[in-house]
Amino acid sequence: MTLLCVPIFVEDIESAISDAVEARHRGADLVELRIDSYYSGSDDEQQVPELVRLLQRCPLPCIVTCRPVLEGGQYDGPDDARISVLERLCAAARAGEHPPRYVDVELATYTRSQNIRQKVNLCVDHEGQLRAVDTGLILSSHDFQGRPADLFRTISLMAGEAACRVSKVAYRARSLRDNLELLDVLSESHELGRPMIALGMGPFGMMSRVLAGKFDGFLTFASLRRSSATAPGQPTLDELLGLYRFRSISRNTKVYGVIGWPVEHSISPQVHNAAFESRGHDGVYMHLPVAAGYEPFKATLLAMADHPMLDFCGCSVTIPHKENLVALAREMIEAGDDRWTLDPLSVACGAANTLTIERDGKGQALKFAVANSDGPGAAGALRDALGTLVGQTVLVLGAGGTARALAASVVLEGGKVAVSNRTPERATELCAQLRDALRCDPAHLHAVADEDELAELAAGKAAAVFNCTSAGMAGGGSQGQLPASEEFVAALHRHCVVAESVYRPLMTPLLAAATGRGLQTINGLQLFVRQAAEQSRWWTGQEPSSALMMQVAREAMQIDAESAE
Ligand code: NAP
Repeated sequence: MTLLCVPIFVEDIESAISDAVEARHRGADLVELRIDSYYSGSDDEQQVPELVRLLQRCPLPCIVTCRPVLEGGQYDGPDDARISVLERLCAAARAGEHPPRYVDVELATYTRSQNIRQKVNLCVDHEGQLRAVDTGLILSSHDFQGRPADLFRTISLMAGEAACRVSKVAYRARSLRDNLELLDVLSESHELGRPMIALGMGPFGMMSRVLAGKFDGFLTFASLRRSSATAPGQPTLDELLGLYRFRSISRNTKVYGVIGWPVEHSISPQVHNAAFESRGHDGVYMHLPVAAGYEPFKATLLAMADHPMLDFCGCSVTIPHKENLVALAREMIEAGDDRWTLDPLSVACGAANTLTIERDGKGQALKFAVANSDGPGAAGALRDALGTLVGQTVLVLGAGGTARALAASVVLEGGKVAVSNRTPERATELCAQLRDALRCDPAHLHAVADEDELAELAAGKAAAVFNCTSAGMAGGGSQGQLPASEEFVAALHRHCVVAESVYRPLMTPLLAAATGRGLQTINGLQLFVRQAAEQSRWWTGQEPSSALMMQVAREAMQIDAESAE
């Protein structure tokens, strides 16, 4: 079982004890006491007895670490002094029967001098140890710049040290692909006869931390609170246990995620993990940051899909990679890989947001299905509100990716679409392209000609108006703006359904105006949940609970239930 370790920076003894008690209460298996901020290397006679008191009162087994500045810690005194303090701590604690379960010493320090090696060996268990010692040695190596060039040499040197019980490598992951190598290191560690810790630091490294259990890692770290993280990119205990359900991740767990750039703000992990859990689906869903550009997208996605043990079974794809997903599927299909398929909507839109990978029992990929759930999600919400889309006219505001997916879906369901955009030429172009792709005529899909036609649509011709622009979105330059004129919104007939794709904020200026007039509305979160539910159905083959997904989405956005209605 992969252990869950909470690192605690020891600033004062009582706080460290209370953090260790909390860590135990919240489900950790052990704590790492980082004494480098507490122990100064001076001759302060009080420090060692105080630290022994901490060890004696610590309610969980512990790792004691005094990390030097050179490897990302805070200790900047002489090496001899910090190794001596570990030695004194082990001896004194052993006398009181609460020795550390492990001490962590950097490989670089351990191999620097025979004197240090001997001192460390005196306090840890190994074959040459003459007395019974309960403390094991973790040999570690950290690189805050990137993957060390001598990674495998480092691992082999650690494994060659007879006193080493656990090897640890941690380095800054510079892309998702670095995680795959870290996970390979974990799965191959049994060949070296040593348990391993292999972790990626920084925002790209989350995958190695969450999936440590799937690959038999010795432990993964999780901080008690965001502010107490001891390495960049370290998850909190709540994230690891709650969001990612770390305890239920096993060798067979399927891996999913959302690929985008930036993507950290996405609430998809909360929503999809909750849906998996409620249906008993053995899957975990993460943020998958991939830098903009076709090449990083293709290289990352194929590396993950081809990994023999990752069980990467699907992903959501968001800005700026929706077009890249279609381009990749086309490239694979043209290269003769008949496992790849593209659904008609993605073909028509030139953009897709979902990949579903079907695998055989041995993990081999059998099918790669690329599809678009944005369109069906939006059209489905409209269908629910209108009863049917057949023969109904929908006015789409905007001519970007969302407008395109919605317009195509409405037409495919037998509805009619009129498109109006701030830049009218883009609406004309969108309609011409979609008419070609869907082989439909202007009676089913056309760009709004002028203000008179817009007024006619508002007065009764349009059964629904759908905002597919980013006007009103928080954080952009158009927060607080309507996607159309005030006169247009004021003229909307009383049976017109008003739908919104923007969900930050949930109550946009358009929805506020429509609600104020008593019109039926669909908010952006409803659309988000619809498209996410569609994806979950494709991945799990089960009907997800949309109500649960909505509740979790609201929580993730910290929206109270009433204001989301
Ligand atoms: P996009 O491709 O960048 O298109 C943006 C569209 O908005 C363009 O038509 C643009 O007009 C128009 N626009 C931007 N600012 C405007 C303003 N101040 N007034 C009027 N029109 C304006 O974006 P997208 O990917 O289609 O996304 C559109 C919105 O949908 C975003 O807010 C996105 O977050 C949201 N969305 C929501 C969901 C969901 O699940 N709820 C899913 C996908 C997208 P020009 O052509 O004149 O520039």
